Amino acid sequence: MLPYGRQSIDEADVEAVVAALRSDWLTTGPAVEAFEQAISAHVGGAPAVSVTSGTAALHVAYAAAGVGPGDEVVTTPLTFVATAAAAALHGATVVFADVEADTGNLDVEAARAAVTDRTRVVAAVDYAGLPASPDAFAALAHEHGALFLEDAAHSIGSLWDGRPVGSFADLTTLSFFPTKNLTTAEGGAVVTADPELERRARGFKNHGLVRDRDRQRFPDEGPWHQEVHEFGLNYRLPDVLAALGTSQLRRLEAFRTRRAEIHARYDEGLRDLDGVLTPARRAEAEPAWHLYPLRVLDGRRREVFEALRAAGIGVQVNYIPAYWHPVFADLGYQRGQCPNAEAYYEQEISLPLFPDLTDAQVDRVVDEVRRAVAGR
Ligand SMILES: *Cc1c(COP(=O)(O)O)cnc(C)c1O
Repeated sequence: MLPYGRQSIDEADVEAVVAALRSDWLTTGPAVEAFEQAISAHVGGAPAVSVTSGTAALHVAYAAAGVGPGDEVVTTPLTFVATAAAAALHGATVVFADVEADTGNLDVEAARAAVTDRTRVVAAVDYAGLPASPDAFAALAHEHGALFLEDAAHSIGSLWDGRPVGSFADLTTLSFFPTKNLTTAEGGAVVTADPELERRARGFKNHGLVRDRDRQRFPDEGPWHQEVHEFGLNYRLPDVLAALGTSQLRRLEAFRTRRAEIHARYDEGLRDLDGVLTPARRAEAEPAWHLYPLRVLDGRRREVFEALRAAGIGVQVNYIPAYWHPVFADLGYQRGQCPNAEAYYEQEISLPLFPDLTDAQVDRVVDEVRRAVAGR
């Protein structure tokens, strides 16, 4: 089965990991700092805080934003559930606003209508790698005294108006899961230019430990002393995985180029096909495409999905609207509240897209899609 996404690991990646294993450090050592600096250089220069997953990055980012009970987080339903779940775990109320019908990205006007004086964070997702108008969301959030969080799990390496993802939001979260634009096996990061948000993020990912004597309540306790002022967790990315990340980042440009070539080849092969829609884009965007979300019209998504799987094409669906998950349904969230997101979900199939996919494999997927849509 051809997978929908897959890591690209080369000899340099293997050597980087082996070198880290042979070093004095396995957990937090020099490779973590080097990786954070390398991430920062690829996202426009703001500091990066590495963590153990994209989900941990969201949990840390909401913690840094001070999200808690009584606060609202406005977000998109067309995402992996973690975007919403991490806010709910802090006790916040998640408010879903609808997406743009064509791109699947959170709609700025729908989000504006959902903002109240309790909104602490507006969280958009760069669906499929296409940045979600990050300049407009930053302006919207700031007009209302809220923070803008960009869940960039799909979009490290993407540009908007010539600027890299990571240079727009108060808090940008990244995922380094194997199917994403680069990998550390499991891993993630929070990018923020705000020193106070960075300090809070670093605290939450490391038990809330305060080692800086100037900030301690009992600084004269002794040289061993560290204290906790706010609860945190252990989300520290190990050196071994950070070494893989730094090595992978050297190929981020090449990954973006190859992903764009594959995306264009699918467009070329499927644009004229009746019964499907190829992905929409925006003039401002130069995406590092994570997904190729094809839309199958006329209620035929399931049939086409099953035909492709039967033909050995490992297609996926991204995503079931987050509030359809029973955990949200049990809290009273109703189906029908975001009709664009639901319509998008009901048509969507993600075709295989990863850097090592060959042109011949892409052409085979195109042929199989054409056959499946023709019903042959
Ligand atoms: C993958 C993903 C996450 C979670 O990242 P993990 O590294 O798998 O925990 C969060 N948000 C979105 C949009 C994702 O695609």
